[in-house]
Amino acid sequence: MLKARKKYEVRTAGDRVLNLTAAPVGAVTPEIREMAEDMIRCMDAFDGIGLAAPQYGVSLRLIVVDVPLSEEEAAKGLTEFEARMYDAMPVALVNPEVTGRSDAVCEREEGCLSVPQIWAPVVRPERIAFRAQLLDGSVVEGECGGLLARCLQHETDHLDGILFTDRLSPAAGERIAGQMRRLLETGSRCNYRRVTRK
Ligand code: ZN
Repeated sequence: MLKARKKYEVRTAGDRVLNLTAAPVGAVTPEIREMAEDMIRCMDAFDGIGLAAPQYGVSLRLIVVDVPLSEEEAAKGLTEFEARMYDAMPVALVNPEVTGRSDAVCEREEGCLSVPQIWAPVVRPERIAFRAQLLDGSVVEGECGGLLARCLQHETDHLDGILFTDRLSPAAGERIAGQMRRLLETGSRCNYRRVTRK
């Protein structure tokens, strides 16, 4: 008999859990490992490249990312940290921290599974220094740029209750204000949750 497929759920803007400062993960227990694996399946079900635990409804400092390596990035040459990360994708990162930010910034269109159907340009540091723990307890640390740096900043922001829509220029904020208002109205009708149809 076919096994019933599980539906996945992501919290959307307006859910209070997205505004909280998430608590550090104490120890990587089997429960945490299981949750991280389920978050990866959830991210995949929504075709995302990153998911933070609060989006999954849990206020803990845990993120999962699955950033594709573009030819352009590969051609530039990868730092040791980038190579390790791309190798490990999809990867769960425990207690992630952005420990340094370049002065150079860049602008790129962002979206978010918790802010469905809305995209807007966000200015962020181009490169970051980053540190996190893997599920096996080892620590990964190093510098990265490109889409990986952007994704890690976006996901780590979620752990501090920050959405990309909080980082928009006034003009960009204005442009999406109507869409945001509609999203919050729709979200309130379904308890700020979206569910996969898969
Ligand atoms: Zn997001």
